[in-house]
Amino acid sequence: MINYDYIVIGAGSAGCVVANRLSQDPGTTVLLLEAGNPDTKPEIQIPAECVNLPGTEVDWGYFSEPEPYLNNRKIFCSRGKVLGGSSSINFMTYIRGNPQDYDRWQSLGNPGWSYQHVLPYFKKSEHQQHGASEFHGIDGELSVTDTITPTVIAQRFVDACVAVGYDYNPDFNAKQQEGAGRYQSTIKDGKRHSTAAAFLVPILDRPNLTVTTGALVTRLLFEGTRAVGVEYLHEGTLHQVRVNQEVILSAGAFDSPKLLMLSGIGDAAQLQALGISVVVDLPGVGQNLQDHILVPMAYQATQDLHFASTSSIGEAGLFLHTEGNMNVAPDLQFFFCPIALPLPGYTQPEWTFTGAVCLTHPENVGQVSLRSSSAKDAPVIRMNYLQREADGQKLATGIRILRRLFHSSAFDEFRGEEIAPGEEAQTDEALIAYIRNTANTVWHPVGTCKMGTDPMAVVNPELRVHGVEGLRVVDASIMPTITTGNTNAPTIMIGEKAADLIKTVA
Ligand SMILES: Cc1cc2nc3c(=O)[nH]c(=O)nc-3n(C[C@H](O)[C@H](O)[C@H](O)COP(=O)(O)OP(=O)(O)OC[C@H]3O[C@@H](n4cnc5c(N)ncnc54)[C@H](O)[C@@H]3O)c2cc1C
Repeated sequence: MINYDYIVIGAGSAGCVVANRLSQDPGTTVLLLEAGNPDTKPEIQIPAECVNLPGTEVDWGYFSEPEPYLNNRKIFCSRGKVLGGSSSINFMTYIRGNPQDYDRWQSLGNPGWSYQHVLPYFKKSEHQQHGASEFHGIDGELSVTDTITPTVIAQRFVDACVAVGYDYNPDFNAKQQEGAGRYQSTIKDGKRHSTAAAFLVPILDRPNLTVTTGALVTRLLFEGTRAVGVEYLHEGTLHQVRVNQEVILSAGAFDSPKLLMLSGIGDAAQLQALGISVVVDLPGVGQNLQDHILVPMAYQATQDLHFASTSSIGEAGLFLHTEGNMNVAPDLQFFFCPIALPLPGYTQPEWTFTGAVCLTHPENVGQVSLRSSSAKDAPVIRMNYLQREADGQKLATGIRILRRLFHSSAFDEFRGEEIAPGEEAQTDEALIAYIRNTANTVWHPVGTCKMGTDPMAVVNPELRVHGVEGLRVVDASIMPTITTGNTNAPTIMIGEKAADLIKTVA
């Protein structure tokens, strides 16, 4: 059996970063196993095609169970299954979150994860178009850029926000998160800059790095409580590989807990019920699932908006706190998109623009569990979106804010009819009904292998799995609480910091 110093499972946002950093030392051997195929699908490279990637062959195609507070709809839980993982199919918006997110992680029992501690890791990965500063780096691999060919209407969104009294924010990832401005994206020279493109493709010639695609990891191998290797299915054959140092699980917020449970780490009673031998009774595995939920509102445009293929769809946005409290992180994030987003039940013309409001800190918590003891089965996902009445009310407030913005004079030359929810939906009752019918995930699941030291924590602040040796989880699943905004940049930061933690030991 072949031995590697490190085995990284999953070449997604975090896994590509970890594999890159660990293989920097030519004396260290690294195996990166990815279930998906290389990122050769042409649409992956074209930013505006991002809306057409979920649900294709580069997606795991997961659905939630019927969501009780969303009229029992099964929500499509898109996840990249390809080199680059979800960073190869995501919408590329670069948002780090709010400094308070990380200070909170630290205060929950995770020393070393405050904003001051993690800021250097955000900067480390970054190649910022506007140059280096207190908040930005230019020496990293990941290109963070403005839209090359912005639409006029996206600027009108920012103008409308300023006209109604919100701050103009030139940079959501610097001093202040609140306010309206243009989003930056992980795009380089007009093409998607996934973590595969940024961190993996340039180093594929390192002789100490082996990347195997089409490799579905089925379980981790243990001797006692020490992880000693991995079993995976490749081209119809089961293989086993051994590890000298550590296994790093970076399979994402659905598949990392799934693999832990398949390998005997999880709630003992549930594992035994499926006939899985228990290695460690760790009841937090798969719990604490958090995600962002979004509601779109669509208008007919009176003219062609000239949306270009080099743009990601979220060109402009706004962060605010519904109670105007600048001392806490924003509770709403808005996206302005110069195109139609999927809205089942509504007919949208070719020229459509969309405003979408997203809850940054929804109160629902869900869980991921095993459907069976087979690695080939999709996990059971329960989100419980909009379980709390207050969350629905906040989204209704968001729709009213969007309406006000779209009725400002900045939109006069573009505004046609309101398509969804439609002018007739004015009361709280009507808006909440629309929300329960159309709200959707923004695909930011986190938290299912949360970091901490309480009984429900899965990994410690060094991301080692409690109760076992030689195993860490490094991906979005380790977040104890969800960040204020999109989750790709925070996950890349987690990869950077984890690599340093791992190297410190070696
Ligand atoms: C459609 C969509 C749009 C999004 N838009 C944005 C956005 O605009 N901005 C933003 O910041 N965030 C966005 N996100 C979220 C962001 O992309 C994710 O939070 C982030 O990529 C998660 O990184 P990860 O490393 O945790 O998991 P992933 O990147 O999903 O990586 C997990 C990897 O593990 C592999 N894997 C899983 N199981 C196995 C197994 N058993 N064996 C081998 N390999 C396995 C997967 O195939 C995948 O490659 C979006 C996500 C989606 C799906």
